[in-house]
Amino acid sequence: MRSLVHLLIPALFLLSCSKSNHEPTVYFTKDITPEGFMKVYKQISKNLEGKVGVKVHFGEEGNTYYVKPELFKDIVLDCQGTFIETNVLYKSPRQKTETHIALAKQHGFTYAPIDILDDKGELVIENVPGCKHFNKFYYGKNIDEYNSFLIISHFKGHGSAGFGGAIKNISMGFATPRGKLAMHRNNYPVCDRDRCTNCDSCAQQCPANAISTNPFWIDVDKCTGCGKCIDVCPNKALRYPKGDVDVQTVFCERLAEYAKAIYDRHKKMVFINVLVDISTSCDCSRNPGKPFVPNIGILASTDIVAIEKASHDLVAKAHGCADPFLEVNRVSGYRQIQYAKILGMGEMSYRLFNLDNNQETVEISE
Ligand code: SF4
Ligand code: SF4
Repeated sequence: MRSLVHLLIPALFLLSCSKSNHEPTVYFTKDITPEGFMKVYKQISKNLEGKVGVKVHFGEEGNTYYVKPELFKDIVLDCQGTFIETNVLYKSPRQKTETHIALAKQHGFTYAPIDILDDKGELVIENVPGCKHFNKFYYGKNIDEYNSFLIISHFKGHGSAGFGGAIKNISMGFATPRGKLAMHRNNYPVCDRDRCTNCDSCAQQCPANAISTNPFWIDVDKCTGCGKCIDVCPNKALRYPKGDVDVQTVFCERLAEYAKAIYDRHKKMVFINVLVDISTSCDCSRNPGKPFVPNIGILASTDIVAIEKASHDLVAKAHGCADPFLEVNRVSGYRQIQYAKILGMGEMSYRLFNLDNNQETVEISE
């Protein structure tokens, strides 16, 4: 009888919470192993049906921080998923389908089919309610062949977006090069010449041949604003204009709008964010910087805004400041989350359910 009471009290408590609160749940485990992935996946997998696209990042040549595919092999096999990606804008093996797939296989993405979504052309979406930056959006055409989506995102820093997580994974990650270019446009870096050693790394990586380095100069008529040069500069001499909050805000809002347009069309998406190897720069970078906080864990949710907010909160807590990406990248990515909420994609308040000890905490945000 006593044990029955012990079972009933927590169950009733959870039931009353779920009746009186509407915050979405974000599931968490510290266990960054295949078992940990399975633990969080089981909480959200019932939302997957039909042909499942698994959006991942295959990692750039030379980058070792992308989430290793053996960690989520069991869950991809469980949902019989197909790895989906799009080709990139800059010079890389990931610019062309054939070499993109070859790099993915080299990085261990061998146990499920791979579909480069824009290989057969573009899906154009027009006139999305609430969007102010775009009236046309360009995504990989094959996306409409899928019924539901498992979005696995490495949550880490990003030179021009502050951070990259689920919002960036479905915006930049589903967009064709034309869509990627539209998001990046007008984001021109500036150079601190006192730090620049004319090493030429940025010019070699610039996909638009927009940089001359002796002396340093960017041809703004050619620059696409991709931020690649910022990522590769070994001396942190390049950045988006200091204090130019407008440029950073607009870029974050563009990401959120691209995420919104595809999310409105394909609402059956579930999200896993992996807080491991949290580097200052992204998985597209050959020089992503060292992780600046210890590994944190894995999060899962059906709400993209809640999972991004929870991920940001956990990194902030680990770093001991409110906006860790503003500190390490001189760019806050927080507007991505705020604006996605304004666009109606989800909630910033959430219930964090720790699967390691079955404890729940509630985070209320405005
Ligand atoms: S942001 Fe940098 S790397 Fe990208 S196109 Fe402009 S100059 Fe080139
Ligand atoms: S990578 Fe940095 S240090 Fe090297 S030339 Fe470019 S701005 Fe200068």
